[in-house]
Amino acid sequence: MSIKRLIRERFFPHIWCAGCGHGIILNALLHAVDELGIPQNNLCMVSGIGCSARISGYVDFHSMHTLHGRALAFATGIKMARPDLSVFVPMGDGDAMAIGGNHFIHACRRNMVAIIMNNRIYGMTGGQFSPLSGRGIRATTAPYGNIDTAFDTVQLALGAGATFVARTTVFHVMEMVSLIKKAYQHKGFSVLEVLTDCPTYFGRKNKLGGPVQMLEWFRDNTAPLGSKKYAENPAFIPRGVFRDVEAPEYCEEYDKLIASVRKEEA
Ligand code: SF4
Ligand code: MG
Repeated sequence: MSIKRLIRERFFPHIWCAGCGHGIILNALLHAVDELGIPQNNLCMVSGIGCSARISGYVDFHSMHTLHGRALAFATGIKMARPDLSVFVPMGDGDAMAIGGNHFIHACRRNMVAIIMNNRIYGMTGGQFSPLSGRGIRATTAPYGNIDTAFDTVQLALGAGATFVARTTVFHVMEMVSLIKKAYQHKGFSVLEVLTDCPTYFGRKNKLGGPVQMLEWFRDNTAPLGSKKYAENPAFIPRGVFRDVEAPEYCEEYDKLIASVRKEEA
């Protein structure tokens, strides 16, 4: 069967700019869902606000397009009410790590798949810098260069207790499909950071060339975790799985607590 069955064709053409990496992520996600054979009715996608968040409109799953930075809070409620659903939460770097940062920290100990679509800038609202932009980056709100240091999504997720943490890029499409599948199969909170390109703002303001050059940058500046290439040059951004461990799962623990309290009170 064609992966077309997984999209809402009536909402196409999509709103993304030519060369935006978000379409590559949507494509990888559809292939992962198709290869896993997950029934659409078992999937729920919850998004906040931003170019990344528009992805929830294009998939023919249960979907909610919610508030900026709050997607994980809505998703937590859905998962608690319907633990049988698999919940995907795609977020941009501003959505997940700035306005939604506190939600992210605490959701890391729940049970969902968070996909951080990191293009290091706020795209939809006009190219403002985000906490992941990094020093020296130019943005609408940093016309002379950003003086703030970026932080690492992977390290934050590890510190906050996510039990599956991985990173890839839009250049590494097959790797992305495989990591989305692993993230889905993991019981617990899965974080997948996907480094992606925003040619319209990040690329243009930082004179990085077009989408092809931006994708080549991901090829030339990242390396698989544990590889010889990474060992020889730790300046590369590592890709791969940083953590994949089993831990008590929040919804199951909650059900156990309810059962034991009912037993005590009976
Ligand atoms: Fe993509 Fe940037 Fe255009 Fe938004 S503004 S659709 S992130 S290229
Ligand atoms: Mg962004």
